[in-house]
Amino acid sequence: MLPALRDRYAELQARGLRLDLTRGKPSAEQLDLAEPMLSLPGVGVHTDADGVDVRNYGGLDGLPQLRRIFAELLDVPVEQLLALGNASLTLMHDAVAYAFLWGVPGSERPWGREEKVRFVCPVPGYDRHFAVCEAFGIEMVTVPMTPDGPDVEAVAALVADDPTVKGLWVVPTYANPDGAVVSEAVARRLVSMPAAAPDFRIFWDNAYAIHHLTENETKTANAIDLAAEAGNPDRVLMFASTSKVSFAGAGVAFFASSPANVAWYKKHLSVQSIGPDKVNQLRHALFFGTADGVREHMRKHRQILAPKFAAVTRILAERLGDLGVASWTDPQGGYFVSLDVEPGTAARVVQLAKEAGIALTPAGATFPYGQDPEDRNIRLAPSMPPLAEVEVAMDGVATCVLLAAAEKAAH
Ligand code: PLP
Repeated sequence: MLPALRDRYAELQARGLRLDLTRGKPSAEQLDLAEPMLSLPGVGVHTDADGVDVRNYGGLDGLPQLRRIFAELLDVPVEQLLALGNASLTLMHDAVAYAFLWGVPGSERPWGREEKVRFVCPVPGYDRHFAVCEAFGIEMVTVPMTPDGPDVEAVAALVADDPTVKGLWVVPTYANPDGAVVSEAVARRLVSMPAAAPDFRIFWDNAYAIHHLTENETKTANAIDLAAEAGNPDRVLMFASTSKVSFAGAGVAFFASSPANVAWYKKHLSVQSIGPDKVNQLRHALFFGTADGVREHMRKHRQILAPKFAAVTRILAERLGDLGVASWTDPQGGYFVSLDVEPGTAARVVQLAKEAGIALTPAGATFPYGQDPEDRNIRLAPSMPPLAEVEVAMDGVATCVLLAAAEKAAH
């Protein structure tokens, strides 16, 4: 077994590959879908549907014309939705920064004056959420992910007893990296569970709300409404963006929450900014036209992405299917496949892949501080390379998984 795998790995290395499955970036083909946007709004077109001259200062909330489109898609009232800069990660970071400097509605003091602040982090999760926590010195407490979202009983137990737990990260739709979708029941429990901290917040990062890989266009549970119904109207801060709808570097990011949280966010934002890039927002509104225009556009993304995801799961099944050395997710949307290999071999798999010219996300990246306690999880991001390269890369990854497992068994 081991010598045969070593031979196969040597053949892989001899191919001199240079393939990259590290980050969930859209491919050039996907970016081309929005290329006509680059000539919008166009010379002489600088007034939005409400008569605002988008070239000038002002309009802190973002362009109503664009907010109306995304309010429908994100299922929130337009008055509770802000259209802001190009990255939702900035908004998440700033929400945490505002909370640390000034507290949130309901805080007894700014979070920065608390002796300790903890966040519950479902794992595997998104590395940049963990990076925000790390930057602010927030202690991260992990809970497992399930196919219905975070392990809600584990979350509820932590939140109920510990007043230092101020936050919870949730990617409710097609989570990064395991593709899980928060069920209505889990959403209800998360927004209604008792919290020891009066200013506990759920950072509801709906980055993949409309990024379906199948015809079944899953609808995200409406956490903001459910929280209000449960008597915790200020619990949920929602984030989203068009980073993987239009241009990853030049999209529009959104913040939605209760009226009190939106007023809080705007109060602090208004010191930082006189208004967002309304020219870009008008460009988006003109290109998409309506919420259905966005949905139609996302189906074009799906046509490009779905075959790549299908290739990943097909090749993993063909090469590793019956061998009991790995398991993986079959996401119905989003940008990632989560691969669990033999415990203790994830870092070795990533190293073997690297030495064969296949760049994978570092092992451990899906855990706080980059430390996967079982050294088991690998995040695969097949969106960026062309389909033929995804196929070659995944066959190579399968060889690395098998070789690392055989090495472990031989020790
Ligand atoms: N949230 C999640 C869960 C992501 O996976 C990503 C990008 O990979 C982002 C947020 C980044 O969003 P933005 O480009 O709007 O900052």
